[in-house]
Amino acid sequence: MGIVLGAVADDFTGATDLANNLVRAGMRTLQVIGVPRVALDLADTDAVVVALKSRSCPVQEAVSDSLAALNWLGGQGARQIFFKYCSTFDSTDDGNIGPVTDALLDQLGARQTVMVPAFPANGRTVYQGHLFVGDRLLNDSGMEHHPLNPMRDADLVRTLSRQTPHPVGLLAHATLTAGAAQARAHLNKLVSQGVRQVICDTLDEADLRVLAATVAECPLVTGGSGLGQALPAEYRRLGWLKEVDNAGQLAPASGTSLILSGSCSRATLSQIEHFLSRYEGFALDPIALAASDEQLDKALAFARDRLNNTDPVLIYASATPDQVKHAQDQLGAAAAGERVERALATLAKALVSEGVGKLLVAGGETSGAVVSALGIRQLRIGSQIDPGVPWTQTQLPGHQAPLSVALKSGNFGGVDFFSRAFEVLA
Ligand code: ADP
Repeated sequence: MGIVLGAVADDFTGATDLANNLVRAGMRTLQVIGVPRVALDLADTDAVVVALKSRSCPVQEAVSDSLAALNWLGGQGARQIFFKYCSTFDSTDDGNIGPVTDALLDQLGARQTVMVPAFPANGRTVYQGHLFVGDRLLNDSGMEHHPLNPMRDADLVRTLSRQTPHPVGLLAHATLTAGAAQARAHLNKLVSQGVRQVICDTLDEADLRVLAATVAECPLVTGGSGLGQALPAEYRRLGWLKEVDNAGQLAPASGTSLILSGSCSRATLSQIEHFLSRYEGFALDPIALAASDEQLDKALAFARDRLNNTDPVLIYASATPDQVKHAQDQLGAAAAGERVERALATLAKALVSEGVGKLLVAGGETSGAVVSALGIRQLRIGSQIDPGVPWTQTQLPGHQAPLSVALKSGNFGGVDFFSRAFEVLA
């Protein structure tokens, strides 16, 4: 018997978000970074989420990477494939959501799939095919200014129609509230009209449950992590998934505790301020980092001096918008960011090899840099610290004990996140 669910996620933190929801709904979940190149032992695994970087890359690359992930997941026996994208449907008129979905359908020999971006718990809902963020339409939510994929049209049927040559359909709320049988009948009618991709209205958790009941046996589903929360109950009903006591059970954590932060988001700055009122931290400055290795050496010495006691140690480049602007004016925006990412990645590598066993990284790009420097290829997903951020665990080559890792993207987490994260692990 293979895994139940195989997911292809179009970015790293989106993959973790889905994996986190699957664990919370009772699936033992592994997140892999890119398509694995070696055989994995999946005996105690119900779901695998393959994290790709296919949200904003050229269409052909997104399609070929997604198909490679699909083929690998098919080889692991996945009963259902989930294409995970952002709950704000981040894409351009060229793609990549439409073309990737078409390619996955073709490869699976399937005729239709649903598109369920909604995540009501996070205020993302869809009504009459229009996506809302809180009480605003998508195109009036701030997403219209996104640097890579500005979303200027909240009508998802129209948006998706620009990304696929096939007609796009709608499963409207009135049909959904009539129940799964009605919803399925509507989808079947659309199939007979050649509709391959169907945008689904979703207002709340109850709608997600009806949708999950409607599509649990389809070869392919697509959407945000909200749908991931609802599907496991259906898998259990079908007898595909057994009950486990704690799907997020990890091996006991060991080693010292380190926080590396490259996130300059508002939430992270408050978390740092809160942490520094109780514990010690070392501030990195990109301008000093660019001038010589002296600051990196000082940061290493600071951490080495303190890492043997029980308190977590923080090293951060996180700074206020004015400070960031100053560094960017001096060094250039890309170079300033790279300096910081390289420094934090170097510190992670050195300090993990010296006994750090619990590592918390703040910042999406920063997490990517640290994960790749450490050579992490897979993460077993544990229990949630705050919505969207679980503890995870990985086994690094040459290390006896597993490394516990939490990767927090910018705006996630409550103000006491940095200290509480280690308390919940203890
Ligand atoms: P978030 O998830 O909050 O967006 P990211 O890590 O994705 O965080 O992005 C923050 C970016 O800012 C990274 O590229 C990081 O290297 C850069 N950065 C961090 N500190 C500074 C600083 N003091 N000056 C300039 N850039 C910085």
